[in-house]
Formats: sequence, structure tokens, C-alpha cells
Amino acid sequence: MNAEHLGQGDKKRPVCIFCPTELPPGKGNKPEHILLNALGGRKSTRVADCSKCNSEFGSGIDSTLTDEVASFRAVFGLRSGDGELPPAIRNAPSSVGPINLLGDGTPKQRNKPFTVEAIDDQMSVKFQVSSLSELARLRTY
Ligand SMILES: [Zn+2]
Repeated sequence: MNAEHLGQGDKKRPVCIFCPTELPPGKGNKPEHILLNALGGRKSTRVADCSKCNSEFGSGIDSTLTDEVASFRAVFGLRSGDGELPPAIRNAPSSVGPINLLGDGTPKQRNKPFTVEAIDDQMSVKFQVSSLSELARLRTY
């Protein structure tokens, strides 16, 4: 980036860093996160790229990168720059069957952790748990 890009000296308007579009003055341009929001970025600027490039990158590489880091964010509970919880990981394999890992790191079984089977006049309930404390939590079912 040189002085021309910054609009200094000859009073040219700043231009997009990706294309020759001049950036509108003031708040006429969409803010661009300096570090991706999904990576915790909070700072933004209006003098980096034009709204068209911002939109194209937002629905392209930014979206792909956001999806790629989603599982790491969920595992480590990393909020976005605007404070949102990470998206849940759905249908992740585990020792008790498929689970959803919520944005705050809480695992939730997708299926009920028990099966009920009728055997003659009796009912059989089989629990699939990893500990006695987990079994104790299931009393609400
Ligand atoms: Zn542009």
C-alpha cells in the first residue's frame, strides 16, 4: 500500500486493495474485519476494500475458513469477535453413539441413551452410559 492508496498527497480517494474501485467517503463503505470475526476479530476498517470485494470474500473464502475452524471453536469454546458462541458440531461420533457438541462445549447425545424392549410380560430397559454418575443424571427420563 502506498500514499496513493491511503488518499494522501494528491487527495485521491482511497481505493480497494483488491480492485481499482475508489472507496466512498465516511461510512459509505461496509466495514471489513481486519481479522475474521469467526477467529475472534473485533477491529474493522472501512478503508481496505470495496463493498463488492467485501461481499465476494465474505461469501467465498471467509465463509469457507469460518466453516473450517468451526470444530476447533466448538471444542475450545472460542467465541467470535462479536461474542457469539461457536456453532454446534452435529452428529459427531463418540463411545456412546452420535452426539452434538454444543457451542459452549457441552456434549448432547443425539439419541436417547436407553432402549426399551418388551420381553413376554416384562419390559427391559438398557442404558448406554459411560459412568454411574451419568446414569444418575438420566433419572429424569
Ligand atoms: Zn474491490
